[in-house]
Amino acid sequence: MELLPENLQHLKDQVAVVTGASRGIGKAAALALASQGAKVVVNYARSSDAAEATVQEITQAGGEAIAIQADVSQSVEVDNLITTTLDQFGRIDVLVNNAGITKDTLLLRMKLEQWQAVIDLNLTGVFLCTKAVSKTMLKQRSGRIINIASVAGQMGNPGQANYSAAKAGVIGFTKTVAKELANRGITVNAVAPGFIETDMTHDLKSDDIINFIPLGRYGKPEEVAGVIRFLAADPAAAYITGQVFNVDGGMVMA
Ligand code: NAP
Repeated sequence: MELLPENLQHLKDQVAVVTGASRGIGKAAALALASQGAKVVVNYARSSDAAEATVQEITQAGGEAIAIQADVSQSVEVDNLITTTLDQFGRIDVLVNNAGITKDTLLLRMKLEQWQAVIDLNLTGVFLCTKAVSKTMLKQRSGRIINIASVAGQMGNPGQANYSAAKAGVIGFTKTVAKELANRGITVNAVAPGFIETDMTHDLKSDDIINFIPLGRYGKPEEVAGVIRFLAADPAAAYITGQVFNVDGGMVMA
């Protein structure tokens, strides 16, 4: 990655927390926000080497970043993530709720544990992190929160009852919290990716899926990160809240 020239760094002296930033879309988002001058907290659950590699990529380009381990489905660990961020950097301007997992199987085979694990991280984790940062953002009277949803939360997907329910929940949560925080200058938006090439989708590629994508190809993490960066950093995004932005090659056209 490259740092933008200082006069183009819209996030200079600002702090961004990206959950699940060791790999995939979260990593691309961390790099994109760092290029805008943000100090970035690279959250991860297990992949400490990958998280440190993300941090190194940012620091080697002249940016600032730290890695913080936290399972964001756990309230105590989220509190620790936010407290450590504030101890280190003193403020939080951007939160990207990106951490997510899948545990796919058809409804009749889905165990309660598979349902619960996906809801706990993909939906409850978004609630916990948003609530934890909102106290700081309310005091600052500014902030930008970006929640990573999915086209599965809009159109459903066989084998993903747990995942699509969580992602639809994220969309409803985004709209409600956008209304609750709007009068303090905090924007809350969602990004709904389609099929993006990451570890999550590595084993799922097929011609059937490509046939469903009008643009005829899978997306790249950087293409999702571009919209995250716009919503987090661009002055032009200041008047956008409660919206869902699809980055899906045209899979969903509302
Ligand atoms: P990925 O490559 O599998 O990466 C997942 C990230 O989440 C990793 O950094 C992982 O950290 C982190 N993570 C997992 N469990 C965690 C936990 N309990 N606490 C904190 N972090 C945790 O996934 P991705 O494809 O980039 O997906 C990122 C987001 O986009 C997810 O919310 C996903 O649902 C959404 N999305 C993806 C696609 C797609 O096509 N890829 C489509 C729609 C939506 P570790 O490395 O430490 O495990």
